[in-house]
Amino acid sequence: MGKIIAIDGPAGSGKSSTAREVAKRINFVYIDTGAMYRAVTLLTLENNIPIENTEKIIELARKLDIHFEWIDNQHHTFIGSRDITQEIRTREVADLVSPVSVIPEVREHLAALQRRMGEKENIVMEGRDIGTNVFPDADLKFFMVADLRVRAQRRIGDYQKAGQKIDIDEVIKILEKRDKIDSSRAHSPLKKADDAIELDTSHLTFEEQVRKIIEIIQKG
Ligand code: C5P
Repeated sequence: MGKIIAIDGPAGSGKSSTAREVAKRINFVYIDTGAMYRAVTLLTLENNIPIENTEKIIELARKLDIHFEWIDNQHHTFIGSRDITQEIRTREVADLVSPVSVIPEVREHLAALQRRMGEKENIVMEGRDIGTNVFPDADLKFFMVADLRVRAQRRIGDYQKAGQKIDIDEVIKILEKRDKIDSSRAHSPLKKADDAIELDTSHLTFEEQVRKIIEIIQKG
């Protein structure tokens, strides 16, 4: 087993960009588990599967052939040979991803994949349940939080990159809805692990977030 750094927190708390940069600087493998739930959601949408058809969604999750690649210093997500980096950041995917992530069999399958990814290498894994469920014995756990408005502001950038225009109040609504579903689901809800270090990033710059985490990792 390699070294495992778990980073959890709600949407827009800065987890993804921070985890990615931390992993790069300390030379660990970065694993974006949200992208895995988003990939299953994208396939659900593309195959016109209604959210009630959990059996079909579970089947998609079980067949999911996902991997990550660095291309020109950018982190890309692939299903097979198809690059889905942009497609998984649309509003349609954001709207449906939390309901898909509630399905216990989807979670169990993706968590098993995630554990396998952490078997051999040093990893920074980022998500909602990494410190509580996927790797409860992680070497270090962080829980990142930020004010709702700050988080919404950060997420607007994601939609712009995916070519979608959206206003801040709408983003706030989407975030609130997702946080509520993610925190209240029965199976591995979004929750700070007792031994996680909480980091409020509302008033931190990106560079400060990255440095703080690396400092703690290097001390540990
Ligand atoms: O981190 P990101 O915003 O990409 O995550 C998208 C969604 O995937 C979350 O809102 C949550 O519903 C789900 N998710 C999860 N468990 C994880 C990572 C993501 O349920 N470990």
